[in-house]
Amino acid sequence: MNKELDWEKVGISLPYYNLMLEVTRKCNLTCSHCMRGDPQNLDMSDEILEKIFGQVEQIYHLSLTGGEPFLAPHVIEKMVDIIIEKKIRLGRCTTVDNGTILNDLGIRCVKALNRLADYIYNYVWNDETRNDPEESPPVSISISNSIFHKNDIQKAIDFYKTYANRHVKVDDQGEWETGLKDKHGNVLRNKDLKRNGTQWVKKEGRAKDNNIKNSKYMSGTYLVELMMDDNKNTICVDTGIQVCANGNVVMEEPLSFETMDKINMGNVLEEPVSCMIYKWNWIEPLKYNEVALYCHNMTMMENPNLSEQKRIDIESGNTYLDLKKYLFVEGHKDYPYLTHEELAICVAAELALMMCEKFQDTGHGMSETEIIEKIIRMELTGEYATKFTKADLKRSIDKITARNFERAWQKMNIIDYIKYVSKLRANAENQIDTLSGDKLRGYVYEK
Ligand code: SF4
Repeated sequence: MNKELDWEKVGISLPYYNLMLEVTRKCNLTCSHCMRGDPQNLDMSDEILEKIFGQVEQIYHLSLTGGEPFLAPHVIEKMVDIIIEKKIRLGRCTTVDNGTILNDLGIRCVKALNRLADYIYNYVWNDETRNDPEESPPVSISISNSIFHKNDIQKAIDFYKTYANRHVKVDDQGEWETGLKDKHGNVLRNKDLKRNGTQWVKKEGRAKDNNIKNSKYMSGTYLVELMMDDNKNTICVDTGIQVCANGNVVMEEPLSFETMDKINMGNVLEEPVSCMIYKWNWIEPLKYNEVALYCHNMTMMENPNLSEQKRIDIESGNTYLDLKKYLFVEGHKDYPYLTHEELAICVAAELALMMCEKFQDTGHGMSETEIIEKIIRMELTGEYATKFTKADLKRSIDKITARNFERAWQKMNIIDYIKYVSKLRANAENQIDTLSGDKLRGYVYEK
């Protein structure tokens, strides 16, 4: 049986590129931009911590968030105990702290993080990592730096440095490099973006209540991308995953407690995370970049000065993404025995066929071969990036959907199988007519 299909039932331990834990929902500040909303008297329980680290194979980067993480030293202490006891292979850990817990609670947190840093340095890192002059220490405590936080950053850095050991770095979050450059080629740091307007603020929590200028459309849910090797073994969960203090699993996004409790993949107390990801990716098949582009397009379309041609192009882009999502979501309902990868090939082929029809009508000037090649290259990688004809695409769809029927036949009794095939035929005719933008866009793309 295909490994991808096994996930749904049994759950497997996963390696993560970036796992974020919401240590607590308590906070002592009331920043006006806070996207979490009002604090809650809730800390992550030992049971949730055990559940999380009981199903983790490896973590490249662990982030601690809140609320204010340093208000819950017992959670951080317990987390460090579990990581060391279970010998979790953790590459590094970062906590963003509001820099105001300059008391016994803060000291306990720093001491727990000292233990974690020693463990990573001595037992996880190898000599090459340890001796690499480019490597920063395995644990970082970063002090929040924004126009909204009422804190004394330097005082906090000095305080925490008094207790931090040599494997723990204490720094100013504003100094983090963003990976962007300005028009003169200068590296942009976090503080440059934050002081340069507030487009990074989402319309969530207190930022929404206080009507703070923010990004118009939100990219809060999208596909969880998995890095796989040639044998389809998962190398790591590439998309950042966050586990909330109550065990809910969400994307690593600055969303409000309210939103995260309403829209999530599931809860670690009830289901393995791998099963949640498997199911989620059938509901949210668009990648982060696609959802971000979709949101950007919607913002662009609000510009009254947009030329008619530009508007048509942008609208077409979003229609394409709507269609892709539709084909995936409905395709899975119709062909539930195909793997995500198999259905992705069918969706790409179907999209290419549809675009050939569309451009034939509008006379866009591209040949069929060019259209197909463009879509296939965009949707699939590696071995699929070769030239196909329309007939090849139709044959691929037939070949792959036949696998679905073989698997259905093996699983169902004869009566159920006949019912299933009849229903599928009945649905096939009016499928595209049911395409509705409202249904597909969901909450995340709203203003
Ligand atoms: S932004 Fe951070 S420090 Fe400020 S209120 Fe929200 S959780 Fe607390």
